[in-house]
Amino acid sequence: MAKFIFVTGGVTSSLGKGILAASLAKLLQSRGLRVTIQKFDPYINIDPGTMNPYEHGECYVTEDGAETDLDLGHYERFLGVYTSQANNVTTGKIYQEVINRERRGDYLGKTVQVIPHITDEIKRRMLLLGNSDQYDIILTEVGGTVGDIESLPFVEGIRQLKWLLPKEDYMVIHLTLVPYLASAKELKTKPTQHSVKELQSYGVNPHIIVCRTEMPLGDERKRKIAEFCNVERNCVIEALDAETIYDVPLNLKREKLDEIVLEKFGYKDVPDTDLTEWNDFLQRYKFPKKEITIGLIGKYIELKDAYISIYESFIHAGAKNECKVNVERIHSEDINKNNLKEKLGHLDGIFVAPGFGHRGMDGKIFAIQYARENNVPFFGVCLGMQMAVIEFAKNVLKLEDANSTEMKQHALNPVIDMMQEQKTIVNMGGTMRLGSYACAIKENTMAHAVYGKTNITERHRHRYEFNNKYLQQFTDKGMVASGFNPDSNLVEIIEIPTHKFFIGVQFHPEFKSTILKPHPVFCAFVKACLS
Ligand code: GLN
Repeated sequence: MAKFIFVTGGVTSSLGKGILAASLAKLLQSRGLRVTIQKFDPYINIDPGTMNPYEHGECYVTEDGAETDLDLGHYERFLGVYTSQANNVTTGKIYQEVINRERRGDYLGKTVQVIPHITDEIKRRMLLLGNSDQYDIILTEVGGTVGDIESLPFVEGIRQLKWLLPKEDYMVIHLTLVPYLASAKELKTKPTQHSVKELQSYGVNPHIIVCRTEMPLGDERKRKIAEFCNVERNCVIEALDAETIYDVPLNLKREKLDEIVLEKFGYKDVPDTDLTEWNDFLQRYKFPKKEITIGLIGKYIELKDAYISIYESFIHAGAKNECKVNVERIHSEDINKNNLKEKLGHLDGIFVAPGFGHRGMDGKIFAIQYARENNVPFFGVCLGMQMAVIEFAKNVLKLEDANSTEMKQHALNPVIDMMQEQKTIVNMGGTMRLGSYACAIKENTMAHAVYGKTNITERHRHRYEFNNKYLQQFTDKGMVASGFNPDSNLVEIIEIPTHKFFIGVQFHPEFKSTILKPHPVFCAFVKACLS
């Protein structure tokens, strides 16, 4: 039976529950334990797949094609372990399951209620990953802030589990804020006290309190929090603002968080943490020898969370190349044919982001043309690849009105077209080509040099694809397809072999880049930008 840690948050949102969960999981994992993390989100959408990035930030895609919360990306990047459909549960999924059962007649004769029916389903989902004997410890991050109406049933589920799970298999960690009042020159513990009281009023007593703070708490304040909040003195953990998110595991280790957890769970003689590789990464990241600037052309650039896996992938690839990668966020709508030199002239490389819809499309195409004609390294992901295909069709193949049918339904030359199997689908949610698919790479191509092998798998999230009717024309003029899906023959990678570095991929490599295993295409792109 696995052991369970529930992570709740208090006082305010954005305290970094996801990073706390990922960091603690990392510490436990490096002590040899098998760990996974799941996220429970209070919203009613079935998943974030139908939400726009302004609402929700990036939608992260797992191997098995779940469209999930971006925190799952942190979990995978920190742990190097895949998550799945089961790792992200929403209120929507819980209700959908209960309502489906009700319609089937499973509750015949009964009134279906939040307690016990919804909370029973919550508990079932909270324990689900524990049934497989795959994990020693399962961390569950509950989205939202304690006290929110939406997350109450999750908190109630956690309360009830206290009576179902053996004492030594159950733990609650509460993350709070200890704000600094500049005028009083003092850290204030009152919000933490209130937030813990709120949690306790629902019958949940945290075992450990982690306090986000911008100043050291000091022993006296820790003692005060412990006393007021009814936890052991050593269970008040300071989480000082960190220079980077990758420092957080090390900071928490200094506070002995992993030791406290292990002791409470009754583990004995667990070897001490081996974080050598992690430290190596951190050294390379913090003390780079070189520096480059890459332009990220997209339409959600105001919002850092919209492309978070991409930014993270550049950090991984930068550290690998001992190079600081400045990612300059450029709004595609700000690019026109008259300002290319001004907007792009100083860049070492151009990256065109994934996306949906026609807004900002022209700017992306101008940027790609600029990269292609000036031998500036180019890397396009998903929509970024599709735009590179359209640019080539317009400007090299001189195909009039070349477009994607996503942007123009009756384009004369639909070089990007809707996938056959997508044409009959009417529902929007969860119906794209999603998750991991095989890709066969042609030998002696740029892609082959980058991956160093001919068979790979990558994750997808799209409805449109390269239109193979045009493949010969592209090949004849110098844009080649170097990766194909071996079963459907869909084009997965395009490149221009005569260019310094010009690669577009239909999949999302950013979802598979991790701290200890940076993604080969990101690494190769950064390297090309360096030379
Ligand atoms: N909108 C494009 C499609 O659906 C690209 C999607 C993406 O960039 N993720 O095919």
